[in-house]
Amino acid sequence: MNPCYVGRFAPSPTGPLHIGSLLTAVASYLDAKAHQGQWLVRMEDLDPPREQPGAADAILNTLQHYGLHWDGDVLFQSQQHGRYETTVQQLLADNNAFYCTCSRTQILAASGSTTYPGTCRACHQPPATPFAVRLQVQNKDVSFEDDLQGPQRCNLQQQGGDFVIKRKEGLYAYHLAVVLDDALQGITHVVRGSDLLESTFSHWYLQEVLHLAHPHYAHLPVIVNGEGQKLSKQTYAEPIPRQDPGPYLRYCLQALGQTPPATLRGAAKATILEWGCEHWRLQQVPHQRSIPQQKL
Ligand code: GLU
Ligand code: ZN
Repeated sequence: MNPCYVGRFAPSPTGPLHIGSLLTAVASYLDAKAHQGQWLVRMEDLDPPREQPGAADAILNTLQHYGLHWDGDVLFQSQQHGRYETTVQQLLADNNAFYCTCSRTQILAASGSTTYPGTCRACHQPPATPFAVRLQVQNKDVSFEDDLQGPQRCNLQQQGGDFVIKRKEGLYAYHLAVVLDDALQGITHVVRGSDLLESTFSHWYLQEVLHLAHPHYAHLPVIVNGEGQKLSKQTYAEPIPRQDPGPYLRYCLQALGQTPPATLRGAAKATILEWGCEHWRLQQVPHQRSIPQQKL
């Protein structure tokens, strides 16, 4: 086992796996296994109103059915609230975060956009009305090198502004949980969809504030439908079937720019995945933000 590589797949249980999420699972799995690394699965069940009963189990069963066996135990974010709260309190105590009672309408009126204009930055006592907690960001560029999408740069204060780490409803924000759990699990390589490329600036920034190591990031092209929309529950993406996983695995290899030979047609899932690990070249994955869905 290579101790310098720990990867992960981190689905949200908002619905069953579709071909877009399978692609991310396969790419992160192959990149980890090709480096003799570990591949962990984390269930990002942070937002109960958006979740579908049974989806977490369905996702895990589908991964097993496709031969994507993870290392160690699955980490459920719903069981990590204590750790998230400790960090929120620490960030508040250090004045890196503040309480915010602004509504979306107020933010829009104040800044003319969804970028938070810093209205409540001086608010360091819990207000009587429902509040969010925001991380204060500085007026400077955050930059990192994405292993697939190349150099990235963004000024968070101008694009989005101070971001929410705990929501008004009391839910912990994805940005906070993902950074803390990637650190807790010792993740060294994040391979995920390019719909999360912009989120990475917030993650990078938070890692700096919390003195955490930055993992490597590679953002994959996402599969889009005929209208150019990312496949998701909202765009009625079909769940991947529980039948023969072979054709779907080969489809993923192809979409990821790998070139599975014709002899893999009809092969067992383990054989296809073994071929994938042996021949995996991350740099052959299209360096694009999206790719159109092809017929299987
Ligand atoms: N849970 C997120 C999603 O399903 C992915 C998080 C991540 O990979 O960082 O979109
Ligand atoms: Zn505010």
